[in-house]
Formats: sequence, C-alpha cells, structure tokens
Amino acid sequence: MSERVTTVVIGAGHAGLAASRFLGDRSIDHVVLERGEVANSWRRERWDSFRLLTPNWQSRLPGLGYEGPDPDGYMTMGEVTEFIERFAVLSGAPVRTSTNVTSVRRTDGGYDVTTDHGEIGCRAVVIASGACNQPVVPKFSEAVPSSVRQLTPFGYREPGRLPDGGVLVVGASATGVQLAAELRRSGRPVILSVGEHVRLPRTYRGRDVLWWMDASGVWDQRYDEVDDLTRARRLPSPQLVGTPERATLDLNALTAMGVELVGRWAAVRDGRALFSGGLRNVFSLADLKMRRLLDGFDAWARTSGREAEVGPPESFEPTRVPESARLQLDLNSGEIRTIVWATGFRPDYGWLDVPVVDEKGRLRHDGGVVDSPGLYALGLPMLRRRRSTFINGIEDDARDVIGHLAQDLAVRS
Ligand SMILES: Cc1cc2nc3c(=O)[nH]c(=O)nc-3n(C[C@H](O)[C@H](O)[C@H](O)COP(=O)(O)OP(=O)(O)OC[C@H]3O[C@@H](n4cnc5c(N)ncnc54)[C@H](O)[C@@H]3O)c2cc1C
Repeated sequence: MSERVTTVVIGAGHAGLAASRFLGDRSIDHVVLERGEVANSWRRERWDSFRLLTPNWQSRLPGLGYEGPDPDGYMTMGEVTEFIERFAVLSGAPVRTSTNVTSVRRTDGGYDVTTDHGEIGCRAVVIASGACNQPVVPKFSEAVPSSVRQLTPFGYREPGRLPDGGVLVVGASATGVQLAAELRRSGRPVILSVGEHVRLPRTYRGRDVLWWMDASGVWDQRYDEVDDLTRARRLPSPQLVGTPERATLDLNALTAMGVELVGRWAAVRDGRALFSGGLRNVFSLADLKMRRLLDGFDAWARTSGREAEVGPPESFEPTRVPESARLQLDLNSGEIRTIVWATGFRPDYGWLDVPVVDEKGRLRHDGGVVDSPGLYALGLPMLRRRRSTFINGIEDDARDVIGHLAQDLAVRS
C-alpha cells in the first residue's frame, strides 16, 4: 500500500467539499478524490442556459453564503461553479483533481481505495460522488428508428445544435419542462410526454415557493419522520425554473407557449411511440398535491403569526387537459427529428466493491451511515432531510454524518 490516510472522500462537488470542511474542523486527516475538477458535474453535465431553481439566498455552504446584489435571483451555471470553487478554496479542502476512483474494497481495518494514480488505505470513506451520475433512459428507446436522434440532458447544450424539426421531450420534471420551454422558444414544434410530476408555482403570496418550504419547515422534515421514505426519496424534481422574471413554468404555461402535451411514453411498437391515456387523472393528482402543500403553507402562516409578511392567499387554475391528447406518434413520419430523454438520473456505484447497493442500484444506508462500518454517504435525495440534495441542505447533513464518522473512529481506535 503506497499511501495511508484516515478518511477518503470521493467527489469534489459541494457535498464532498462540505464533508472535507467538517473533517478539517475535527482535525481528521483526509483527501478528496475527484475524477475531474472541483464542481465537475456543474461544468460537464448541464446545458448552456442552465440556472439554479433555488434562489441565491438559498445557496449556502458551511461558512459561505451568497453576498451579491440579487438574493432573490438564480445563479447561472458559471456562477454556481465559481461559488463552489470559492468554497473549496475558503475551506482549504485537500482536493486531488483528475483522480478517478476505480475500486473501493473492504479490508480488516477499513478500506482500500484504488484510483488511476495508485492505492490509498484508509479507515473511513465518504461517498460524495453524486446522485445524478447517469441519465435514466427506458429500455424501449432501443426500438426508436435510427432516423430520430436521441439525447439526454448530459448531451444537450442548446437548441441550435439539434437537427431541424420537431422535438419530443420525455419527462415533465424540472429538466423536462425547462428544456421543452427553451426548445419551443427557439421556434420548434415541441411535444412533451408527461407522467407523474410535481406542480409548483414559482411564487406564492408574493414569496418564492422555496421560501415557504424553508420558512415553514417542510424542507427540514427528517428522513426518520416521513411515512414512506422510499417514495419520498424517489419524488420527481418540481416543475420550477429560475428566471429573472420569477415566472411559473407549469404545464399551463407550456400549453400557452404552444407545447403539445401527451401522456407517459409506455412503449414503441412498429416504429410508433405509444402514450398512456388518463392525462386528466395525472393532472388532477398533481393539482391536488400542490393545493395541499399551499394549504399547509397558509395554515403555517396563520399559526406562526407570519401573515403580515406575505400577500393574500392565491388560487391557481387547474392544469388544462388537451381536448384530444394523441395516444400514438409515428416516429418514421419525420414529424419528430429529436428525442430528449428527461426521464431522471441515477448514481453510478460501478466502482464500489462492497455489497451495499440494492438490486435497484441504490445505496443501503440509514441517514448517510452506510451498511458497512466506516462507510458514509452524502448528497443523496432525502438522505437526512427533505433539503438533502440541494446546496443548502448539505451543511446539516455533513455535520451529522461527519459527527458519526468521528465517533466511530474514536470507538474503533
Ligand atoms: C439538472 C439538475 C439541476 C439541479 N438544480 C439544483 C438547484 O437548482 N439547486 C440545488 O441546490 N441543487 C440542484 N441540483 C441538485 C444538486 O445540487 C446537484 O445534483 C449537485 O451537483 C449534487 O452535489 P454533490 O456534491 O452531491 O454531487 P456532484 O456535484 O455530482 O459531485 C460529485 C463529484 O464526484 C465526482 N465523482 C463521481 N464518481 C467519481 C469517482 N469514481 N472518482 C472520483 N470522482 C468521482 C464527480 O466528478 C463530481 O464532481 C440539481 C441537480 C441536477 C441534476
């Protein structure tokens, strides 16, 4: 073994850097291994016009907050990258860039971490390699005719790089609605395939909807307090976009722009895309859940004496159901030249040679404490709180997880 440290952190996104900050505070020697550069996924895996959907004041990392002139605005990709780089410098994180972890194996006293630059032995590992390493694309995409170009959000940059003609965007969560709107604005015919989704207005009673989530405590709801944790961890991202106008980007807004809505894409048969019916039910469920959440905010404002800080309650038009949503689309007709799969992301643990990943590819953990001594995780959906995957969720999670790690090291020494 060429090198030994107490702890190896894998990934220099905001989660790995926050872990490093708390390890440093406790004087636990460690390295942060990063296959690319600091904030790699923001640099490599987002499209050109990308902005955060969380407002600037919510971009908070341990010891670093937003200090610019527009706390209610939304960072561009360049600004997020700079913000995370600044955090890495301020916290003095010992990052080794261009160092790919290819294997993590259990040993007697801890783990062997193999990288493309050699091996490191350690007592503890923090997996902060991200929750969104690979776009999820359904198997039936293989049956799409080769005349139609297919890409994922990782390959998408801007509308001008797509073949001329119509685009079918699949998935109506944050990424799907944002890309559908951008493509439609570029003048293309756009069809959006919609399954289960989370509808939210950008602002409610004069405040950003994420202000409500934050202030009312919804985002602090803990993983061990929710009824169905598996479901909470799989919830799609909300239909939100960060724009200077603070515009709502729900399905009604897309319909008004001329985007055609169809149901969930279920199969490909004889070169035809087959979509589910029942849009009315899908829409009314999303409308109902949104109203329930907003009613909860109203109740919180009343009982917490915050009514004076917000405007009057608002109601929203139900999602408009298309008169006759089509159930099929001939993929050979030329109507659609490109498909953008905005069907979610998943983590990649191909390098993890410890049996802690379930059959669905998810890490088995309890609030970030993985099912193998000395192994920890950060940055996963609802790891410890509803806010866990967001930039502003990492501080509390990292403090808790590194606290556990430190205690475990003390017990084992
Ligand atoms: C499209 C999209 C939009 C989002 N919008 C917002 C938003 O508006 N606001 C917000 O707060 N959050 C947002 N998020 C969620 C979240 O903030 C990001 O996913 C964030 O990048 C997660 O940070 P992380 O540090 O956990 O992971 P990442 O930033 O993904 O960092 C993981 C790092 O690990 C490295 N890595 C992976 N595998 C290895 C390996 N084997 N060896 C070495 N290094 C490795 C990667 O290169 C990467 O740099 C968004 C996520 C996505 C996907």
